[in-house]
Parts: sequence; C-alpha cells; structure tokens
Amino acid sequence: MKQPVTDPRRLAEELLEHLKWHQDLGVRWVRREEGTRPAPGAARVARQPAGPPKAPPPTVRVAPQTLSMFDNVPSKPETLDEVRTDLGDCQRCKLSPLRRNIVFGSGNPRAQLMFVGEAPGADEDEQGLPFVGRAGQLLTKIIEAIGMSRDDVYICNILKCRPPGNRNPEQDEIASCQPFLYRQINAVRPRVICALGTFGAQTLLGTKEPISRLRGTLFEYRGAKLMATFHPAYLLRNPPDKRKVWEDIQKIRDYLRSLPAG
Ligand code: SF4
Repeated sequence: MKQPVTDPRRLAEELLEHLKWHQDLGVRWVRREEGTRPAPGAARVARQPAGPPKAPPPTVRVAPQTLSMFDNVPSKPETLDEVRTDLGDCQRCKLSPLRRNIVFGSGNPRAQLMFVGEAPGADEDEQGLPFVGRAGQLLTKIIEAIGMSRDDVYICNILKCRPPGNRNPEQDEIASCQPFLYRQINAVRPRVICALGTFGAQTLLGTKEPISRLRGTLFEYRGAKLMATFHPAYLLRNPPDKRKVWEDIQKIRDYLRSLPAG
C-alpha cells in the first residue's frame, strides 16, 4: 500500500504533478474546500473560480448490434472464479502455445465500472495481469482522475493471450475467446462498460464503425451502458487526444454519480 507523503516539499511536488496531469486532460478548474490554503500550482489550473459548469444530460444511443452481451452464456449466474476455472489452461485458439500467462482480468468482482481492452502486451503476458505496462499506468491515472482506484473497477481484455508482436487480434481468436468475456461481464454485471480502443469497442458493439465515431456516446447496452474511448496505448502516441478521453470518462463518472445509492 502507498505510504502517505508527509514531507511538505515532496507533497507539493506530487500535488503539482497531479494538477498538471489534470490540466493535460483538459481540466480547467479544481474545487478547494473552504478554510484550506491554496495548493502550490493550483492557480495554474483554477481558471474558472465560479465553479463547475453544469454537465448536460448524457446522450444515449442504442448499440448497433442485436446480440445480447448475455447470449451464449449460461443462464445460471456464475462467479468470476467459475469462469476462470472453466477457461483452465485454454488451448482453444492458436495463441495458446505462444503465451507465457493467461491474462484473465483483475479488480472488483462486483465493480460498477468495467474496462475492456484488446489483448495483453509483453508486460501483461509476463505478469499475468491486465494493463500493467506504460498504457496500464496511464489507465490507472485515468481511473484515479474520476476519484476511483483500480480496486474499485474490473479490468480485462477481449483476448486473454498475447498475440505475437502485439499484432491485431484475428477473427478466429476473437470468436474463441469472446464467450469468456461475455461470461465475465455476466458475472460482474457492471453498470458501465468502458471499451478501450477499436477492437474493444467494435467487438462489444458488433460494428465496424471507427472508434473516432463510436467514442463520446453512452450506448444503451442490454441493461448496462457502454462508452467507447481511445486506448491508453494510443494516447501515449497521441497525447492531445487525452482531452477527448477525459470528456468520455467524465460522462461515465457523471452517469455513475446519477445512479441511486445501493
Ligand atoms: S486467446 Fe482466449 S481462446 Fe485463445 S488460447 Fe487464449 S484464452 Fe484460449
């Protein structure tokens, strides 16, 4: 567990880094509790002291696919452990001899928010955990930017094994692995699914529309909402698009906050 920072200089540095990250995402104001002193660097971000603009109600589209995300899954409720046990030492597609580890997923098995990426990379294959490389560190920052932690959400991929050289997933691999993703979704039953990148979005929505057109909209998705946004690995190559991801992730945050408690 991360130890609390007590050194004032280190605290100021961490706070400044935190504020710069939010500024990078397009945040233009931060709230300061009454009676607290201004934080170092806060003035650079706080350009609109009047408070947050009222968020418009989220736009909702209906997913273009006809299949339910609960199709092809057992009607009896399953746990993630049961799904993992059934996956076993999977040999169902041609990626199995190439992997070091199956990367099943990690996080809160009752998460309200679930992230679905494309496939494990080298770091993930090595550690058997999703989103642990540089893209994963960026995803962690995105999650923390809406006041959550990785322990609050559930993270997995369409494919559980690394494609060689990080090439794109192929249709037969997706077809073999996809039922396990649907069973994971069925076990977690999140309120919002955030599809990261083209393959995550197109596979879940059953469309070939580009991610640039799919992102930014909350889809009605068989009892849940689905938001597609850019993959963190893409953001590492295209930092200016962090702002669009921040807009998408704020819509998710606002939707989750609008849900009744419990
Ligand atoms: S990618 Fe999925 S279907 Fe293919 S071997 Fe790995 S776990 Fe099995």
